[in-house]
Amino acid sequence: MSDMRQLYQEVILDHNRKPRNFGSIAGANRHADGHNPLCGDHIKVSLNVLDDKIDSIAFEGEGCAICKASASMMTGAVKGKAVQDAETLVEEFRNMATGALDPDAQDNHLGKLKIFVGVKDLPSRVKCAILPWHTLHAALHSETSVSTEAEAGTASDHA
Ligand code: ZN
Repeated sequence: MSDMRQLYQEVILDHNRKPRNFGSIAGANRHADGHNPLCGDHIKVSLNVLDDKIDSIAFEGEGCAICKASASMMTGAVKGKAVQDAETLVEEFRNMATGALDPDAQDNHLGKLKIFVGVKDLPSRVKCAILPWHTLHAALHSETSVSTEAEAGTASDHA
C-alpha cells in the first residue's frame, strides 16, 4: 500500500508540474466549463470530435494538484478513443473514485488511472478528481457548464 501511495504522489506531482495537453483546441467542436466550488477548481475542456472519435483534446484553468493531475491524465487517456469508450472511462473513473468499483477486483479499462483509487478515502478530494471527467462528459453532451454542486446527495460533505 505504501508503494501505491508513493506512486500516487509522484504521478500527481509530475502531472501537476507538467500538465499534458494543457491549453485549448482552436476550432473545438465540443467544450465545457467545470467548477468545484468546495475547492475552487475551475477548468475548461475543449475537444474536437471527428467520426465519433476524440481527435484532439485539451484543458486549461485553475485547480488543485489532484484536479490538474486528473485532468492531465484524463486528456491522455481519452485522446484518440471512440466517444463511447471515453464515456465508459468516465463511468468507471467515477465509480472508482466513489468506491463503487474496485479496479483490482472488477473488469475495467482504467489502466494507469488506477492510481486515483485512494481518493475514495478522502471525501474532500473526490470532487477534485472527478471534476475533469464530469466536464468531459458535459462537453461530449454539449452542456457548456457543470458544477460538482449539482451532484445529488453530496451537499452535506462539509456539514
Ligand atoms: Zn481541488
